[in-house]
Amino acid sequence: MIVKEKYFRPKTIEEAVSIAGEYGKDFCFMAGGTDVMVNKFQGNNSTSCLIDITDIGEMKQIVKSGKFLKIGAALPLDELSQNADIKREFPLLIEVAQAIAGPVIRKTATIGGNLLCENRCSFYNQSEWWRDAAGHCLKCEGDVCIATGGKKNCFSKFVSDMAVALISMNAWIEVIEPGGGYMAYLEDMYSGNGVNPRKLKRDSLIKSIYIPVGQKFQSVFLKLRPRESMDFGSLTSAVTIDKNGKIKIVLGCIDPGPIIVHGNSSDNRQEMIRNAVKKSRIVDNDFYSRKYRKEMIAVFLERSFMKLLS
Ligand SMILES: Cc1cc2nc3c(=O)[nH]c(=O)nc-3n(C[C@H](O)[C@H](O)[C@H](O)COP(=O)(O)OP(=O)(O)OC[C@H]3O[C@@H](n4cnc5c(N)ncnc54)[C@H](O)[C@@H]3O)c2cc1C
Repeated sequence: MIVKEKYFRPKTIEEAVSIAGEYGKDFCFMAGGTDVMVNKFQGNNSTSCLIDITDIGEMKQIVKSGKFLKIGAALPLDELSQNADIKREFPLLIEVAQAIAGPVIRKTATIGGNLLCENRCSFYNQSEWWRDAAGHCLKCEGDVCIATGGKKNCFSKFVSDMAVALISMNAWIEVIEPGGGYMAYLEDMYSGNGVNPRKLKRDSLIKSIYIPVGQKFQSVFLKLRPRESMDFGSLTSAVTIDKNGKIKIVLGCIDPGPIIVHGNSSDNRQEMIRNAVKKSRIVDNDFYSRKYRKEMIAVFLERSFMKLLS
């Protein structure tokens, strides 16, 4: 097989966006490459041009910006977890960064790449020959979801741990597109559609993540996975409570998008838990069974409430 790949390493955002413009649909941005390259080897990403954004200095900084802490999207998770401002203001992010993959992957894996890590499913994240044998699913140009037998919806799991934590802290993203840019609430970027899990345009680049400071959150992050040393989550939860008693529950790995439930410290806890379980569209597409993961939602949320509200 002759592989004709083109590899670019721009020094500025303008250059990156302009190269993207030249390649139309046949490119992808790459940061740490820990998700992109796996998808390439599994035949789930056939673009011929890679635009490596890791030389863009302004996308690797952490700076205060008005009422926000601004984190460059190309900052590796390992560097993020050693930053003094993050340690002081948002210790939750350190805990979450250190729960992603293993130490070697975290040296290159970036925060922005994590937010855009592709949805996963045990019938999709397989080699090409495996998928040829089992039959292609909705996420790879087939006409049926192998997990459910349905023909309409893909239930690939939203797996970004950083997104779960950042959404629980009301984070924003700065997006650059050819000819402009905009700010958006991070949670609004996710579509809940397993085939196209994000609402971003193909040539959009996430430049920075903005977290409002002074929210004085207390938070609990929990993650279920077979091996703590490196596996993706089978269920993740982040629960925050702010200084005014506002609660935000965010769940990952149990639906094609993040599940979000808002509440107050005076609200009925069981009602909030029931609401979260009801919203989640869990199917059997993971190492653990659907039934077990569903039961674990209530267990995780009970544990979080016990820590935060007792
Ligand atoms: C063994 C293993 C275990 C893992 N465990 C976990 C886990 O527990 N939790 C978890 O959340 N993830 C996990 N991952 C997935 C992945 O390593 C992380 O999500 C990582 O943070 C992705 O970052 P990256 O910089 O390597 O992304 P890349 O692979 O470079 O990119 C990922 C996607 O984001 C796009 N992209 C990257 N940066 C930008 C940007 N700034 N703007 C626009 N598009 C961009 C790319 O085009 C691509 O679509 C694991 C991966 C492996 C291989």
